[in-house]
Amino acid sequence: MSFLDQLGRSASQMVDRAKFEAEKFQRTTRLQGEIGELRHQIHSKLAELGQRTYELHRAGQINSATIAALAQAIDQLRIDLTKREEELSNTQAEVFVEPPAPAGTSAGSTSPRSQHVPVEDEPPPPPPPATPPPPQAQTGKTQPDLSAGDTKTCPSCSYTMPMRAIFCPNCGFRIGNK
Ligand SMILES: [Zn+2]
Repeated sequence: MSFLDQLGRSASQMVDRAKFEAEKFQRTTRLQGEIGELRHQIHSKLAELGQRTYELHRAGQINSATIAALAQAIDQLRIDLTKREEELSNTQAEVFVEPPAPAGTSAGSTSPRSQHVPVEDEPPPPPPPATPPPPQAQTGKTQPDLSAGDTKTCPSCSYTMPMRAIFCPNCGFRIGNK
């Protein structure tokens, strides 16, 4: 392929791309307009529903058929709105993809590519904790390993101590030796 051919080819791609962008802009704008209109319609139907309900309540006769019809119309508008919003986000996500280069083109093509580049979004695993958890803090109040039956409990602080203790080793409460 000659230089001029390549020049012509990239120029036509620029035209294609410009067409694509213009068309995308047109569709996006149209969808945004439709979404705005649907939101407006939902808003006024809800206002109407509220007004009707209020009036019927004041008149002492709630007509559930009227309410149901309005609610149904609002549901339908919401379905349309969801569809338009999906269509809009799809349209906004579209990117211009260049047609594949014909065989024989030099590999050193420098034309910019607009294809979606996969992004590595896998976060790295969290680092292991820098320091091991500290050993059990020494409080000086560790319970001695006492066999059951040989102990009593402090009435002041519930500390378990040997039966022979006169004072609670934890709080100093005088218990006496039974
Ligand atoms: Zn005590």
